Amino acid sequence: DVTGELLAVRRLEAWYGESHVLHGVDLDIRPGEVVTLLGRNGAGKTTTLRAVMGLVGRRAGSIRYAGRELIGVRPDVIARAGIGYCPEERGIFASLDVTENLMLPPVVRPGGLSIAEIHDLFPNLKERAGSQGTKLSGGEQQMLAIARILRTGAKLLLLDEPSEGLAPVIVQQIGRMIREIKARGFTVLLVEQNFRFAQTVADRHYVMEHGRIVDMVANAELASSLDRLHQYLGV
Ligand code: ATP
Repeated sequence: DVTGELLAVRRLEAWYGESHVLHGVDLDIRPGEVVTLLGRNGAGKTTTLRAVMGLVGRRAGSIRYAGRELIGVRPDVIARAGIGYCPEERGIFASLDVTENLMLPPVVRPGGLSIAEIHDLFPNLKERAGSQGTKLSGGEQQMLAIARILRTGAKLLLLDEPSEGLAPVIVQQIGRMIREIKARGFTVLLVEQNFRFAQTVADRHYVMEHGRIVDMVANAELASSLDRLHQYLGV
């Protein structure tokens, strides 16, 4: 892309049926960045991820990924273009073990990590290879959900609240995992409510309110911007 962005979202609007949820979202992500979407419940963060993936009723505006327009493109084609989505509920198959869960999604493009590479990156999953989905902790399920996306060959990962419901020590593990993914050259857009966690993984943060981006702050400026951000986030 001439502008150097991996993802460029402009004036994005989205609807669920008659319900108009996104009202002109603008955001950019450069290759290799980790960027968060912060905001209160109902601000439209999840809907933004779903809209990028093509999983809302109707979209308008522009979403360019690696220079290619995604408005009007089906979710499966968007996945094959290199975008992977991990929903908040993670979607681990309870009756399958860790390896089976990893094998289940198709590799949609070249460059997907092999099982050996996944074990190398995330030793926890190697240890738990034969464990059934139901036996995994919340943190292990979250790791597995992210690893599964890496199998598909996705280069941009959309993660919805990976820290949600996890104990602090496990949240730290997920943080290490995301930094490891970044070090490997992947790009991440993640929804977060946990400010402290966001600070440990991200390069930049966007703040959403009422279906729009209302602020953006570099991670280095997060600490000095807390007063301003707290007004949006109500914490
Ligand atoms: P949360 O952390 O609560 O998920 P969010 O910022 O991710 O918050 P969204 O889930 O994107 O917010 O929701 C934005 C708005 O869209 C809310 O008003 C919500 O009620 C509405 N909404 C979400 N999903 C649907 C749906 N499937 N049908 C209709 N409206 C929806």
